[in-house]
Amino acid sequence: MDASRYFDNAATTPLDPRVREAMLPYVDDAFGNANSIHSWGLRAHDAVQRAREQVARLIGAEDPAQIYFTSGATESNNWVLNAADKIVISPFEHSSMREPALRRSARVLEIDGLSIEPPTMPNAQHPTPNALLSVMAVNNEIGTIWHAPNYALEGDFVHSDITQAVGKIPIAVDGLDFASFSAHKFYGPKGIGALYCRDRPPEPLILGGEQEQGFRGGTLNVPAIVGMGAAAEIASQEQPEDFERATLLRTILLDGLKGLTDYQINGGDRTSPFIVSVSFRGLEGETVVLELDRAGFAASAGAACSSRSTEPSHVLTALDMEPAWLRGTVRFSFGRFNTPEATAALVKTLRTSMEKLRRT
Ligand code: PMP
Repeated sequence: MDASRYFDNAATTPLDPRVREAMLPYVDDAFGNANSIHSWGLRAHDAVQRAREQVARLIGAEDPAQIYFTSGATESNNWVLNAADKIVISPFEHSSMREPALRRSARVLEIDGLSIEPPTMPNAQHPTPNALLSVMAVNNEIGTIWHAPNYALEGDFVHSDITQAVGKIPIAVDGLDFASFSAHKFYGPKGIGALYCRDRPPEPLILGGEQEQGFRGGTLNVPAIVGMGAAAEIASQEQPEDFERATLLRTILLDGLKGLTDYQINGGDRTSPFIVSVSFRGLEGETVVLELDRAGFAASAGAACSSRSTEPSHVLTALDMEPAWLRGTVRFSFGRFNTPEATAALVKTLRTSMEKLRRT
């Protein structure tokens, strides 16, 4: 399959071949348990520590010991909820934060369009300091950027789901107490991620082992951790170049859409260039995605995590989008292996598909 025609990088990215190379020794002969005291164990342990340093550097953490490896952002988001009794979230959070938070009676911040209302003092929606406040850095459906510390009361624990930001837009964790992310969104393997904890981690979610300073039980997935480290190292170096590419490809797409009728770009003025959400009025997002797939392109209808469900997206719903627009939403997300040529070809196919679909 041609990765240059894969425009669904917000769902997952391909493994960078350099990451694969770095992982292979730990899949094969360096198979030791990172907790064992013999040479096999020490080799695995050293590799994990190196990866921890690489990941810490990528997000600007002061100390590699602030990085706790998890199975991904979903686990990190679930885990961080143990940090406080009171929880406050934005209405735009990914379902891996929203669903467990709502089960714990989280308050949801008020919005005005895409602006989250910053609380100035304790009030009904943000009733107490010392809450866990969670606001994502980049929305996975529409690409909008927010800065979590802007919405915290003094004394809050500030958490941000930085999954769609890491390695893509410049990001630093100062101002945050916690941050969640996954390696497979920046060309690392799936099933591995981390929770950054500035000070003490939340009470463990997964008990029963001394791993991760006693805060996350379970034998470490060394090849995946090494892969996450290698992906972080590459992202630290290539982020500006990747950002420039995404900006160029976004421009090609947006210019190419001009001249079409009945479409709108979602997400507002402050968006990540990696995610472009377009609504085509009166069409079904799935139909457009399948039409593109027939021509060899990947995109996604709404958010990939929920696109197999029939529920309308809570993000687009929160924005009060009319159903005729909401249903026709397609997300294009750029990555390292997309090219200007493939993006121009995508635009061409999109325009032909639009003519066809609007005629039928
Ligand atoms: N948060 C955000 C913003 C995401 O985009 C995703 C993945 N779609 C997740 C969390 C969950 O990541 P994972 O499935 O790797 O746990």
